[in-house]
Amino acid sequence: MSALDQAQIEEAIDTACDTVIRNEQYFSDLDGLAGDGDFGTSLATGFRIIKKDLPEIDKSAIGAMLLKISMLCSKHVGGSSGPIWGTGFMKAGMASKGKTEVTLPELAEMIGSAVEGIMARGGAKLGDKTLLDALIPMAETMKAMADSATPAEMLRAVTEVADNAIDETRKLVAHRGRASQVGERSANTPDPGIVGVATILNDWCKHYGVDYTPKAAELNR
Ligand SMILES: [Mg+2]
Repeated sequence: MSALDQAQIEEAIDTACDTVIRNEQYFSDLDGLAGDGDFGTSLATGFRIIKKDLPEIDKSAIGAMLLKISMLCSKHVGGSSGPIWGTGFMKAGMASKGKTEVTLPELAEMIGSAVEGIMARGGAKLGDKTLLDALIPMAETMKAMADSATPAEMLRAVTEVADNAIDETRKLVAHRGRASQVGERSANTPDPGIVGVATILNDWCKHYGVDYTPKAAELNR
């Protein structure tokens, strides 16, 4: 069975940092359509520090590394995103405590645990037009295919799930987060959190040479 080691998880996180930093302005512009326009800057401020600190942080186990990243998120990612992303990394870290490599079923458990933590922390559910509309079906897909898929197959599948979530939620009115405060104005705009997750996954496909053709306009800029 395939497994990912600490260095591979670290590389994926470093790549995600690059994605967030590169898209700082774009993610904030998307958030400005229905929210307060801070999403890109909030995320990039924290991920710039994570990228800088990544070479130095505790690598004794995957869990220890993720818990440290969780702390950096909580401390440096601004706005409502800090506790959300911090909780996600914390739960994934707790689920991989002491492990120096994780199998795909274990990775699916880590993501499932992160998603449950984010739901509990933010009080959002499926259909509220938050990043959970990408994360919940992604976690289910991972759980369903973890026993038989290769890492590349799993990455392609979850990227498609997140890509689809952009268009499936575009017409919804946001019920949680800042975008909910503008009500109807949030309809016909993509959720920046969903676009952020899908962009990270699409960039991972490119980075790892996984063939995937994105559908949503936000991934085809
Ligand atoms: Mg915002």
